[in-house]
Amino acid sequence: MESEGKPLGRLMSITPKPDAVFECGEGSYIFDEEGNRYLDFVQGWAVNALGHSPVVIAEALARQAAKLITPSPAFHNRPSHQLAERLVQASCFDEAFFLSSGAEANEGAFKLARRYGQKFKNGAYEIITFENSFHGRTLSAMAASGKEAFKPLFEPKTPGFLHARFGEMDDVKRLASEKTAAVMLEPVQGESGVVAAGSDFIRELRAFCDDEGILLIFDEIQTGIGRTGTLFNYEQHGIEPDIMTIGKGIGGGVPLAAMLAKQRCCCFEYGDQGGTYTGNPLMAAVGLAVVDAVAAPEFLQNVREIGEYLSARLNRLSKGKGHLGERGSGLLRALILNGENGADIVHKAMELRPLGLLLNSPRPNLLRFMPALTVTREEIDEMIGLLSAVV
Ligand SMILES: *Cc1c(COP(=O)(O)O)cnc(C)c1O
Repeated sequence: MESEGKPLGRLMSITPKPDAVFECGEGSYIFDEEGNRYLDFVQGWAVNALGHSPVVIAEALARQAAKLITPSPAFHNRPSHQLAERLVQASCFDEAFFLSSGAEANEGAFKLARRYGQKFKNGAYEIITFENSFHGRTLSAMAASGKEAFKPLFEPKTPGFLHARFGEMDDVKRLASEKTAAVMLEPVQGESGVVAAGSDFIRELRAFCDDEGILLIFDEIQTGIGRTGTLFNYEQHGIEPDIMTIGKGIGGGVPLAAMLAKQRCCCFEYGDQGGTYTGNPLMAAVGLAVVDAVAAPEFLQNVREIGEYLSARLNRLSKGKGHLGERGSGLLRALILNGENGADIVHKAMELRPLGLLLNSPRPNLLRFMPALTVTREEIDEMIGLLSAVV
């Protein structure tokens, strides 16, 4: 093949990408085909909870693949039940449903909320989400997202989504009506730049939803599975959502997502929901390996400590270089730049040799850090050293 070995070819182009073709990875490091080495603070977009190609995931995949890849979603398999049990034990929820991506998990949550509204709330179907939120890229998830750039795309999108100002209870109240089935919130908005909703707002929202009989859905696709220092972010606010979606970290890099719900919301009728890969035992086996590692109290304690260390190092760098500080929760953090040159910094950091640095700039004036949850202090020091060279 003529195009063999070249990055450009028959793959549909959906976004500009750097030329490097990545070949292998280990922990916090990833290598391209030219043999260049990079320190990775993107980690598959906050996906590789245990870093690149961890032994526990490689072994879980090999073991399960040799045993049973899938019997079909119409039959039981043991790993899916074990993972559901594990997630229910570790959370406030009663049942789980598995999917392959975050957007799909959110679709499931929209459907469950609409089913609930239809059965128990006189046909209520509207879902209130928030400005600048990101919930995925299916048509309904794009309709739910409060991302400005999505607004004109692919109209008409799914109707029934209303967007409140993030953190503003009065705006939620303004939009709520007897048609409201649910409110959906990212407790920390990730794609819009690591912006926390705050415990006060979250508690007010919970109380309001309780009073009005509205379901509260947490999108923890980015914040869940230890990313913010507790297994799930909702634990930090003294409240319990009715429905929660998780993705990214739960698969440690493989396509796995879940929707968890309290018993009273589990109202799907047969035929409402399904999917060829739902509860796929190969992915479930990986999910079990990830949850076993991350849910350990000493693992989460370490995420909190390392998160504070990253925060302190970013703050010091910010002061030294005249930037505008940092924010975040656990190992989901952002450095606020004193200019709009985030993309340029990301590019320069990647080009550094002999060690490049992979970063993300979700907004022009912001760098986001989402390392493996297993990142070490030494790796953070190394990252700060590389970052200093380009900011
Ligand atoms: C990444 C993300 C999604 C979408 O997940 P996909 O797996 O890309 O479909 C949804 N919500 C949040 C908060 C996310 O960070």
